[in-house]
Amino acid sequence: MRTEALATDEKRMNLGVVPSAGGPPLSSVAQEKRCVYRQITDEQVCILTFDRPNSSANVFDRETLHELDDHLDFIADSTELKGVVLTSAKNSIFIAGADLHALADASADDLASLIELGQTVFNRVASLNIPTAAAIHGACVGGGFELCLACDYRVASPDRATKIGLPETQLGILPAWGGSTRLPRLIGLPRSLDVILGGKTLAAKQALKYGMVDDLVPRERLVEFACRKILTQRSELRRRRHGFKHWATNNRLFAMALSLRIESRLLKKTRGHYPAVFKALEVVTRGLSRPPAESLALEREAMLELARTEECHNLIRIFFMQERARKRSYILGPTPAVAKPVDRTTVIGAGVMGAGIAQWLSSRGLPVILRDVNAEQVAKGMAGVAQLYHEGVKRHLFTKLEARAGLDRIFPSPAEAPVRNVDLIIEAAVEKMDLKKKIFQELGELAGPNTVLATNTSALSVSEIAASTKSPERVVGIHFFNPVHRMQLVEVVVARQASSETVQRAVRFVQQIGKLPVVVKDSPGFLVNRILMPYLIEAGHLFEAGASVEDIDEAMLDFGMPMGPLRLLDEVGVDVAHHVAGELEVKFSDRMQTPRVLAQMLKAGLLGRKSERGFYLYNSKTPEVNSGLSLFQEKNWAKNFPREELQKRMVLLMVNEAARCLEEELVTEPSDVDFAMIMGTGFAPFRGGPLRHADSRGVQKVVGEMKRLVDSGGAYFAPCALLQSIADDGRRFYAEKGHQ
Ligand code: NAD
Repeated sequence: MRTEALATDEKRMNLGVVPSAGGPPLSSVAQEKRCVYRQITDEQVCILTFDRPNSSANVFDRETLHELDDHLDFIADSTELKGVVLTSAKNSIFIAGADLHALADASADDLASLIELGQTVFNRVASLNIPTAAAIHGACVGGGFELCLACDYRVASPDRATKIGLPETQLGILPAWGGSTRLPRLIGLPRSLDVILGGKTLAAKQALKYGMVDDLVPRERLVEFACRKILTQRSELRRRRHGFKHWATNNRLFAMALSLRIESRLLKKTRGHYPAVFKALEVVTRGLSRPPAESLALEREAMLELARTEECHNLIRIFFMQERARKRSYILGPTPAVAKPVDRTTVIGAGVMGAGIAQWLSSRGLPVILRDVNAEQVAKGMAGVAQLYHEGVKRHLFTKLEARAGLDRIFPSPAEAPVRNVDLIIEAAVEKMDLKKKIFQELGELAGPNTVLATNTSALSVSEIAASTKSPERVVGIHFFNPVHRMQLVEVVVARQASSETVQRAVRFVQQIGKLPVVVKDSPGFLVNRILMPYLIEAGHLFEAGASVEDIDEAMLDFGMPMGPLRLLDEVGVDVAHHVAGELEVKFSDRMQTPRVLAQMLKAGLLGRKSERGFYLYNSKTPEVNSGLSLFQEKNWAKNFPREELQKRMVLLMVNEAARCLEEELVTEPSDVDFAMIMGTGFAPFRGGPLRHADSRGVQKVVGEMKRLVDSGGAYFAPCALLQSIADDGRRFYAEKGHQ
């Protein structure tokens, strides 16, 4: 009998001692693969500690669920145990949810049985006849939190690492291990919909406010506290298990009314594109007035349906691409030694980008020297940094103390500061080649032999800048996007002369500061702006040709972009866009002609949001279309284009340019292009990026549409050679149709 076999295995421990990861094997799980360890306190509380071997994270896969189930056999058979505490031995992760790789690779039958298994095991936790508690430190999301929801009580550490939530809808699925059933019963319908539909992960304090956890106590006391709770408040926990809360919101009538209201809001927000949120809304609101077993059945059915959708496949792929970018290393030519982490940095130029970069680096614990031409400019930059920290405190990203410490890590420097011992210098001065060359020439002289020299230029040639230094092999582009604190993507631009070590160190640095690198060849506009610009340029041309601002922007919102292209031009700044378009026009004049309207707006001081006037007016709460701009609509060929036509033209140009970037080997894989466009521009994530979108539509069809536009006079729609050959051969950009 397993009970007997295990009874001899138990390790006795005193209450209050955090369980060690050691312990004997379970009968059915090989020792080296064990993920869950069991210990019994002197007061007969069973502590189950999750500790996946050779990994910094705990995740749920089939084996771990079975292992937990084995422990539940033992617990259910025991007559002495007073309660169960679930916890984790990892530094910053409780349980990070289901193993997405297992989920992505599962056949429909496998998936059905995996969902069923999770529900069954968690149901067993929920129906144990002794009290159960989760002692949470670190990320507790998805399946990890669903396990906690099956417990009677949840206590969490207030640490920054503790994040609690149900992000499933962001992956195109829904919580289906009981989360969609148990969360509304725990915290009420409105709040649970807020969490589930938003795919939210909350900080510990916020989770406490929402009722997702019951108490916060320091990490070191978590297990002891949970044990004490179980031993001293047994009947209170039992009452809670059977009590009925939230009667005002958790009833059929309220659920129906709320569902209708939320559905119309969701439709407006998603334009119907994200099936998971609609399905989750349906499951949560319908399941609420049914017995839990029926609600769980709804979860299962919905999960199977969603897992088949293309949206789900694309969203899960993005997750994998992010994971890959976080870990990937780039080796060009001979393998360099492992890149050293960056300890000391200098940022040159304290404008919008310089201040943003300095703030980000300092918030990640790096000391930064922030240099500009004079005290006034440096002070302006420091004020920008202080403002970013201030907003971060308001959004609970930092405590006041952390913000102060971050600010103190920046050393403002109006004069030339010593750069000899700095590991990395990022130049973010004004976008002028002569100026950048001068700066790099000086840096080449002054910087130490191991310093990486990086430029944040958006459109100038990094190789030309590198040529101005005496050691061009140390120069690389590290192109942050604006606003730095929001945009995760960073392009690492490989200048012609860059050494493999320089690129490797730049990539490692980007990963070190928690951003996601994509390595691109040095070419005008690099990758993201190169693909984005033809799209923005076309939006400008369509506007000049009579299409309305509303139609152009709405057409692309319908496609799934986070904002319309004309609104984006306003955000980027008409001056900046005009400059970048100009740079690209020099190289690609056959297909990228800067629209006249940008120059006209520039002349009229209509710079977009920064001047409060652009394609929109920004002096009221919600931006309004600037009707005065009709003055610049000098033609009318696009005046009566339906939105679908406008959308088609703009999207095709992005697809074509994306294919060209691959053809020119700016990056090596289609997924690099798609990843960069999603992370750098918000390209409709559920479509999986421009190249994946071309695959989904059918490359032959896409090429056919381009050719029809060429025939009607739009020579710049001519498909590039790669697109044409893929269409001719009936191939796809991605070989497979699955998740990878
Ligand atoms: P900005 O005009 O806001 O700031 C430029 C700063 O550089 C100013 O404070 C200026 O005083 C300073 N400066 C000029 N000459 C200098 C010198 N010799 N030494 C030190 N500082 C000097 O410009 P920005 O928008 O922050 O752009 C900076 C760089 O980042 C540009 O190369 C730009 O192309 C690139 N970039 C901008 C964005 C964006 O959206 N603004 C996005 C990505 C990259």
